[in-house]
Amino acid sequence: MSNEPKSTTAAAAPSNFLRAIIENDNAAGHYAGRTDVRGQPLPAVVTRFPPEPNGYLHIGHAKSICLNFGLARDYAGRCHLRFDDTNPAKEEQEYVDTIIDSVRWLGFDWKQNDGEHLYYASDYFPMLYRMAEYLITAGHAYVDSQSAAEMAANRGSFSEPGKDSPFRNRPAEESLDLFRRMKAGEFKDGEHILRAKIDMASPNMNMRDPAIYRIRYAHHHRTGDAWCIYPMYDYAHPISDALENITHSLCTLEFQDHRPFYDWVLERLAEGGFLQRPLPHQYEFARLNLTYAITSKRKLLQLVEEKIVDGWDDPRMPTIVGIRRRGYTPEAVQLFCERIGVAKADSWIDMSILEGALRDDLDPKAPRATAVLNPLRLVIDNFPESETVECSAPVHPHDPSRGVRTFPISRELWIEADDFMETPSKGFFRLYPGNKVRLRYGYVVECTGCDKDAEGNVIAVHCNYYPDSKSGTEGSANYKVKGNIHWVSVGHALQAEVRLYDRLFSEPQPDAGGRDFKQALNPQAKSVISAYLEPGLAGALPEQRFQFERHGYFVADRVDSQPGKPVFNRITTLKDSWGGKGA
Ligand code: ATP
Ligand code: MG
Repeated sequence: MSNEPKSTTAAAAPSNFLRAIIENDNAAGHYAGRTDVRGQPLPAVVTRFPPEPNGYLHIGHAKSICLNFGLARDYAGRCHLRFDDTNPAKEEQEYVDTIIDSVRWLGFDWKQNDGEHLYYASDYFPMLYRMAEYLITAGHAYVDSQSAAEMAANRGSFSEPGKDSPFRNRPAEESLDLFRRMKAGEFKDGEHILRAKIDMASPNMNMRDPAIYRIRYAHHHRTGDAWCIYPMYDYAHPISDALENITHSLCTLEFQDHRPFYDWVLERLAEGGFLQRPLPHQYEFARLNLTYAITSKRKLLQLVEEKIVDGWDDPRMPTIVGIRRRGYTPEAVQLFCERIGVAKADSWIDMSILEGALRDDLDPKAPRATAVLNPLRLVIDNFPESETVECSAPVHPHDPSRGVRTFPISRELWIEADDFMETPSKGFFRLYPGNKVRLRYGYVVECTGCDKDAEGNVIAVHCNYYPDSKSGTEGSANYKVKGNIHWVSVGHALQAEVRLYDRLFSEPQPDAGGRDFKQALNPQAKSVISAYLEPGLAGALPEQRFQFERHGYFVADRVDSQPGKPVFNRITTLKDSWGGKGA
């Protein structure tokens, strides 16, 4: 037999290196058969998304969220949302709340059959402290009493080894006593610091006795004033992972040099009986760099603080709250993240790929509507005054089951100003004196001329219509015209505010090479107009999205729209006008 079915058991090749790692671990049973402290079985894949609550999430974080939650979903595992809140100075509850909202909006959940997997590194403070005491006792950590300047000087450089601190070999009991007094608040900020005792000559600077705990008199958004010493991120992070039974700890490439310390911390604590094996493993992937955008929390904060944008949720911002308000769908963001995949080397992703994912998501979903953004009056001189005729158009041209929308045509219409030319340029098929066009979903009209003001500006266009040419009637087939323009009836149109958004920056790498990204702002990124819309749009609900035919995708603004009085944001145009790849 020639057409025997192919084997259906051969698994498809994993689509990225992280999937390959997980599939190898699963095949080897590396994380199989584990149980948690309550004896409950643990999945073989447990990931986490670990934001620091010190800012709003942006599109780069969305990549990490889709990756971590997506892998957990695809391998029947689970993904934790963990706030890495170990640095009290910059962290706030406001950020915790917005991060929770953003992850949910993206379509992910940390609630599973076995409970809710929302964690805070600050909940581990007592445990982290006990482990630090153990490391001191076991000779793996010491209290250093050098000044910050001395410590910096003795750290060495990439080419030179560091120098041991004179306090490195102080007895463990002395370090333990000092550490307890640090905790008790007996010292000032910076007077002492707890360091891991590893190797001041290591070629990896992160292994030159990194700090583990520092004194910091700061109010913490969750633990209040209970602590005046706080663990360093590089110490708290691996332990948080291990306590939560994380298997694959995914982070961006800049943490590659931190991995030896990640492993060192976990090994020492596993030896001490504090942690169970198998231990979590850190893997690094390339961060998302998106052209025409910036993905640095610090720089985004600058845009907000200097009022260059109208807040964190300004629709021009690459924050999750910004792209949500702009009109992006969670599905489009997920599709984008799938398309860009994950790699081990940094690269730039073109904005047109994000916009392309949005168009691909919205095209089949978004109902169509008519909007005249730059209005010019068209008078149908032979149309009976005060008469209206109902016209209808499909809600979606490729899905008749979604029905039709109706709107009236009358003697005076708004059309786009650039659909008329008194003296047509070559290849212009729309309205000019003597030419016929179809008023989309309405009649064929022939242009007869125009009115001008004293300065010579065209203020109205005149035409006559053919009563037997209405779309959808038999007679319409007798008219062959090249131009097809959209319109709304002057007496019936909904006048609404429309905000035309475009890319925030006009250069692909606004902050490349450390230059001032404010020089690259796109002055045309926002313009607000008053437009005339199809009357039915009065009922648009906040966050409802439409394709305004010939213009692009628009959303009723979720903040400023009022019942019966929507305000629309342009999400994106129908086609890429920036010459990008992948739209
Ligand atoms: P910070 O400088 O404040 O640490 P951050 O952008 O790293 O900023 P985190 O809250 O620490 O913010 O990030 C949470 C997670 O999101 C981390 O695992 C981080 O690696 C990941 N992440 C951050 N930026 C990107 C990006 N551009 N692409 C992919 N992942 C990212
Ligand atoms: Mg970070």
